[in-house]
Formats: sequence, structure tokens, C-alpha cells
Amino acid sequence: VRRIFGLYTERGIGMGSIVNELAADAIPSPTGKPIWGVNVVRGILTNEVYSGQHALGMTAPPIISQSTFDRAQTLRSTNRTVHPPRVDTWPLQNRLRCSICGSRFKCAYGRNGRRSYRCFGRETNSPYFQRTGQRCTAKILEAGETDADLLNAIYIALSQPENFRAALEVSINALKAKLSDLERDVAPIRRGLEAVSSELGRIEMAWVRGILAPDKLDLAERSAKERQEHLQARMDILDPGRVDELERTQSLLAAATENLDLAANPDTPHSWFVDGFASLLPPEWSKEGHDILLDYTPKWVGETLRELLTRLQAEVWYGPDGLHVKGIITLPVPLTKDEAQASLSTRPT
Ligand SMILES: [Zn+2]
Repeated sequence: VRRIFGLYTERGIGMGSIVNELAADAIPSPTGKPIWGVNVVRGILTNEVYSGQHALGMTAPPIISQSTFDRAQTLRSTNRTVHPPRVDTWPLQNRLRCSICGSRFKCAYGRNGRRSYRCFGRETNSPYFQRTGQRCTAKILEAGETDADLLNAIYIALSQPENFRAALEVSINALKAKLSDLERDVAPIRRGLEAVSSELGRIEMAWVRGILAPDKLDLAERSAKERQEHLQARMDILDPGRVDELERTQSLLAAATENLDLAANPDTPHSWFVDGFASLLPPEWSKEGHDILLDYTPKWVGETLRELLTRLQAEVWYGPDGLHVKGIITLPVPLTKDEAQASLSTRPT
């Protein structure tokens, strides 16, 4: 009986799982059967005799403490589906990157059980540490606060069409600059390849017309082909990451430009803006003294933030000065708390 109460109240497993545990340990039921009935387990968990209370008011020697019994009753009444596994939302999973070392941030639980985001470059098994022998100095971010800071900043940018337009304009300028940087690598190679290909055409014509001696033609052709192979090899070894980055930047620029055209057009119905983004946020968001962390659950904050980041096609970059949302819109997000302050936080969970 103590075992059943312990499994239920301390390990938080459900009645069905208790039946399985008892069967796995070959503990027979009170009637000698190898498998316990769920109703038998439930009968034990709800029977006050085990805490020393008797239905007729008499007391029996307690098998479990009253507090354990009370806890089992509370669990039963508050959680009929019995302890679903802990499901936390990590909106920045695979989305938060470190501008100090280039690593991604990992989701982790701290010693106090609070969720945090940590740069992988802080760990000795990270590629960054293996390459440099140093740990990244990025701070550990308290996940609940970070999610709320981001959601708040994105909300401010989306709450008014003019804020949205401004964030789009910043983003479009940044994307154009980045695109020309990325294309700068590719453009000279492309130009070189075009030049070699027209040179090969001229050599071909010279051969047809019999202008040059065959040995000179051979030499010119071999030299041109060597240059062509060399350029093609340079094209092939261009970092595939940079090619992906080029495509992502082109697609973001197209999306941002399209959104800006719509946002700047007075004929665009307001519903376009509302349906697109603002509908994800409740109307009372704009009220004064609003506290995301107190008024909404971390799960709601996480899910809403994830949806917004997805719609904005955004990555989030960490830097010593705070976070930067980079997607269709670009937003700086100062962090309200850093690691040192977070550890002193007295906000109850
Ligand atoms: Zn880092």
C-alpha cells in the first residue's frame, strides 16, 4: 500500500502505470492475481483507512501519513488524466544563434529546474572549444524572461502599422547590404567563367578559319580550359552554407519588400495586418502596466512567440548587447536581465 501511495504521490505516475510497475515486480494483487485491477489501485488510493481514519469514526494504525493521503486526493481531483509528461515550449529551439562564436544555443534545465538557453560554445565538446581552446563567453539566458522580452519587442513592432513599416525598412536595407556581400564572392567567378567561355569560342573560330598554327591553337585551348576548370572548382567549393544564406537572403528580401508595399499602400485593408500578425495577440496587450510573465503562462508565451517567429521567418542572434531578431523584420531586443541578475531573481515560479 505504501508503495502504491509512493508511486502515485512522489513519482507522479498514473494508476495504469502503477499496475504495470506492480506486475513488473511480480507483486500479486490482494486477491492473489498477478495483474492488479486499476479499480483496486484506485480503491486503495481513496481509502481513508490507510491514513488511520475509519469510515465509522474509529481509528486504525496508519500505514501512510495523513499528508501523503491528502496529496493523493488532491492529485486525483486536480489531474484526472494523471500527470501528463512535462511538456515545455522552447520557441527558440534551433533558432537562437551566437554572434560571438557562431554556435547554436541549446535548451537546458538549470539546477533550480528553471529553463534556460545556453550557447553550445560554452561546452568543451563544442566545435568552437575544440577549435579555439576557449569557452564562449555568452551568458546563460533565463528562457522564460528571454521569451517574454522577445514577444514584447515583436508585439511593439507589430502593434502599429507604422512601427511595422519602420522595422521592414530597417530589414530591407540590412538584407540588401548582406545580399551584395554574398554576391561579391560569386560575381568575379561568374565573370571569369564567362570570359573563358568566350575565349574558347574565339579559339574555335580561329581553328575553323585556319588563322593560327595548330600547335599554338592547342596551347591556347589548353590554357583556357585549365583556367575554366580552376574557376569551376572555386565555384564548387564555395561554402554551401553561404549559398544557402544567399538563397535565404533573397527570399527574405522578396517577402519584406512585398510586406512593405502592402503596409505602405493606403488601400491595403487593415485586416491584412490584423489577420497576418496582430490577431495572435490578445487585445488587452496594449494596456498600461501589462506584465507578460504575470498575466500569461510560459506555455502561451512560448507558443505565441514560436508562431510569430515562424511567420516572420526569423532567426534570433545573441550578442553582448542583447538579441537581434533577423527575418522579414529586423529588431534589436535588449535583455532585461542577464545571468548574474537572473540568479538573484526572486520572482516566484
Ligand atoms: Zn557562443
